[in-house]
Amino acid sequence: MSHPSPTAAASKVVLITGASSGIGEATALALAAAGHHVVLGARRTDRLAVLAKDIEAQGGSALPLSLDVTDPADVRSFVAAAHDRYGRVDVLVNNAGVMPLSRLDALRVDEWNLMIDVNLRGVLHGIAAVLPVMREQGHGHIVNLSSVSGLRVDPTSAVYSATKYAVRALSEGLRQESRELRVTVISPGLTRSELTGSIGDSGVRDAVREQMDIAIPATAIGAAVRYAIDQPDDVDVNEIVVRPTAQG
Ligand code: NDP
Repeated sequence: MSHPSPTAAASKVVLITGASSGIGEATALALAAAGHHVVLGARRTDRLAVLAKDIEAQGGSALPLSLDVTDPADVRSFVAAAHDRYGRVDVLVNNAGVMPLSRLDALRVDEWNLMIDVNLRGVLHGIAAVLPVMREQGHGHIVNLSSVSGLRVDPTSAVYSATKYAVRALSEGLRQESRELRVTVISPGLTRSELTGSIGDSGVRDAVREQMDIAIPATAIGAAVRYAIDQPDDVDVNEIVVRPTAQG
């Protein structure tokens, strides 16, 4: 991969949550290759350090930072560190997520709460941390990862879908309230990543992994994020759905 040198006008400071694997990692690579400065957040900082090294070895710019999106103070520190380093925050990609699917009558209440904490509260913590900065700047772009499960509900997806429907709802509210900010929802279908590793119910995990035969690479989602970010400032791409061609 060759990296064009960033230009002042086109090079953005892009914060990505959950950058240590899957879609977040692929998005970081795509955006760094396009000349953007990427700020990488996740709990597995060893993974982030390797990714940042790879990006810099290819001529890109990356700042790896420890981040737990369930902790609002941690998310504020993540944004503050990026702002201190670059003097602005152009884009936040709220990507961190977990998907411990199960039937409601399995009563895996701790997993329900984890999905709410990461997939919903985590996104809200990100919005809360960047909104004051973006309002002060007079510009900004928030990209939220929902899912095809934010457009339909299937058995075992009730709580996961609830969090992803919620991400679409709050993104639409944010869009309507913000005339200076761009708001994008990306809804992937089956995509290759480590996400099925968060499924604690082994029967459900095996069934979902079988469906993953048709999954598309995470680079397909990274390209969609890049498309939304690289539009002119007065063009807000509000929703993108990207599924495998073979997905029903
Ligand atoms: P991965 O499991 O590969 O990546 C999830 C990322 O989230 C990891 O980097 C993980 O990092 C991070 N994460 C989890 N919990 C936290 C936390 N508390 N704080 C900070 N980071 C956290 O899965 P995907 O790449 O597939 O998932 C990315 C997003 O895409 C999710 O929101 C997911 O719901 C969504 N999505 C995925 C689809 C798919 O088929 N793969 C389909 C539709 C939507 P770490 O553990 O190091 O903290």
